[in-house]
Amino acid sequence: MTEQIHYPLEWPYPIKWGEEKTVTTDVLILGGGIAGCWAAISAAKKGVKVALVEKGAVIRSGAGGSGCDHWESAATNPCSKVTPEELTQAMLQDHNGYNNGISHYIECREGYDRLLDLEKMGAKIRDTEDEFKGAEFRDENTKFLFAYDYENRFTLRVWGTTFKPALFQECKRLGVKIFERTMATSLLTEQGRQGARVVGAFGIHTRTGEFFIFNAKATVLAMSRPTRVWLFSPGLPGISEFRPFQCTGDGHAMGWKAGVEFAMMEKSVRAEWSGTRSYPPYGTGNTHNTWYACSMVDANGKEIPWVDRDGTILTTVSQRYRPALGQKFFIKGGGESDFPLYKYKGPDTLPVNELLKKGYKLPFYADLPGMPDHERRAIWGLMVGQEGKTKFPILKNYTEAGFDPDRDLLQSYGDGWKSASFLPRERQLFGVPGGMFNDWKLRTNIEGLYAAGDQLFASDCHGHAAATGHYAGRHAADFTSKTFKMEVAPHQVTAERKRILSIVNRAKGLGWKELNMHISRTMQNHCGEVKSKGILKTGLDALKAIREDDASKMVARNPHELIRSLEVLNILTNAEIIMTSCLARRASSKHLHFHRSDYPEKDPSDWHKFITVKPEDNKVRIGEMPIDYYGSLQENYGIHNGEYRNR
Ligand SMILES: Cc1cc2nc3c(=O)[nH]c(=O)nc-3n(C[C@H](O)[C@H](O)[C@H](O)COP(=O)(O)OP(=O)(O)OC[C@H]3O[C@@H](n4cnc5c(N)ncnc54)[C@H](O)[C@@H]3O)c2cc1C
Repeated sequence: MTEQIHYPLEWPYPIKWGEEKTVTTDVLILGGGIAGCWAAISAAKKGVKVALVEKGAVIRSGAGGSGCDHWESAATNPCSKVTPEELTQAMLQDHNGYNNGISHYIECREGYDRLLDLEKMGAKIRDTEDEFKGAEFRDENTKFLFAYDYENRFTLRVWGTTFKPALFQECKRLGVKIFERTMATSLLTEQGRQGARVVGAFGIHTRTGEFFIFNAKATVLAMSRPTRVWLFSPGLPGISEFRPFQCTGDGHAMGWKAGVEFAMMEKSVRAEWSGTRSYPPYGTGNTHNTWYACSMVDANGKEIPWVDRDGTILTTVSQRYRPALGQKFFIKGGGESDFPLYKYKGPDTLPVNELLKKGYKLPFYADLPGMPDHERRAIWGLMVGQEGKTKFPILKNYTEAGFDPDRDLLQSYGDGWKSASFLPRERQLFGVPGGMFNDWKLRTNIEGLYAAGDQLFASDCHGHAAATGHYAGRHAADFTSKTFKMEVAPHQVTAERKRILSIVNRAKGLGWKELNMHISRTMQNHCGEVKSKGILKTGLDALKAIREDDASKMVARNPHELIRSLEVLNILTNAEIIMTSCLARRASSKHLHFHRSDYPEKDPSDWHKFITVKPEDNKVRIGEMPIDYYGSLQENYGIHNGEYRNR
């Protein structure tokens, strides 16, 4: 790569390179998204001092900031016919065990409590205006609206655009000290040692470049998951991925440097969303998620059939929201995982290739006019209006352009719900990917360090982030009652300042976009769909070369470019964690979407376990954990949450 001279740019904020501020607190929360806000709230309610560090503006930051149209796994709501235990087991089985038993049990047990809390904070969770009175999916007593399985009623349709402002106000009301537009850059550890107790973090202001030292007794990581590892568009960087631009997996990278153990990082799926290839998520006519269970027609207007898990054609729209004969409940439409178990498989349309063989003609269209009135308004209006990326780009813009759901069809562009087709080498951490390994307190392997939301391995969804955030926050607060020294190691401060300032002190060098391109192309070339020891090893060598050469030449002209550069350095670390994990699993696995050409046998029984990786003494330590390491869900939850249970 060639170095370029970067000319200075005008900058509208005062520059404070080298200025330093120290903040001391009991609990430090890194990431002010859904999990981070909930962690701050529950810790503050325990009466400890809380500081919340957020790269953007808390009121709308993160994947849940712009909205959320459905709240999953509220198994304890009064209308639910499934128990938290049943639902968690279903989620575990549907992924062949490769799921987080602890965090999803917390989601199923406490998610509904968080919804009720949200309502008290002023957010909207019920059809209080009776817009959907009489609808099949409404409970007339509670005014709750349900999605997917109308019989078992554990997923709620919600007004998710009201959630983040309510959480932000609650944090302020509780006296949480909020540091916005501040990027956490690295963790502080006792004596600066990897693997030692975490005593805070460093941060940098995204507008002024001011340096922060946050000194804390306990730290909660809530910075979402890695993105832009395989997918990066220099022309449209903001929509390179499904998750928001600020979420680059900084928490994973800084955890790795501190010695955190990860699980399931070998799992990646063929990409499903990226701005250069697809429409906004859930912005095209389809049948999943926001759009479940919309009628579809082919190019000739022929209706596409819906079938239950047995292949029985469903003759009414209502049947698409009901379990099959003899089935207790189903998870989501089509299934929770990419390979739904028969036991939990929900109604779906026939697969596209089967439809084509039967003579159906592309393109397909969502037939909103063909849906009953309540269902049509629930999809186009409520859900498209509340979902993360559709409120403005789709609902507002299309409506203003004249789209009328009572009359118009909306085209589908990919197969099923993905709205695009990707190459096998274009991959993403989507669905239920890897992340930080946790115990029953949502603590990582490092003392004083907790994780929540999409930071955890096998994490997903808003209710999961809310429930695990609240849970991690209260356990972190409990930890602070211990007495210990919170000393900051001066050499760690010097090294971090030097690392950051070296990027802004260069006169010429490489920009963040070039480096991101280089990393993502390396990942596409060496960590695509089919992997082997040879290709992964050369890939790791290529990443090492990027780190030793290009990464040390990065240049930034202002705080904006500095933040982007630090993010790309984190993306590089995340790429290394992923490649290392792929090398460590020497067996292919269907549910992990993991194909090793040198170990082609799928899911041999001796590999049915979690492979963990963590850095130790300048090497990678590979470990393993039983697939059911969490033990009895009810019993262990009880042991660790007596106070919460008895409240
Ligand atoms: C388009 C879209 C639609 C979705 N719809 C639904 C839905 O309908 N239902 C559902 O259940 N789930 C939905 N999800 C998923 C859900 O939004 C996420 O699972 C949830 O927000 C995860 O919460 P989190 O706190 O882990 O991450 P986030 O809410 O993304 O928060 C992470 C926060 O960390 C901050 N951050 C990152 N790095 C740093 C750093 N270095 N320093 C400081 N701060 C940092 C970010 O700015 C962000 O605010 C959707 C996601 C997307 C992208």
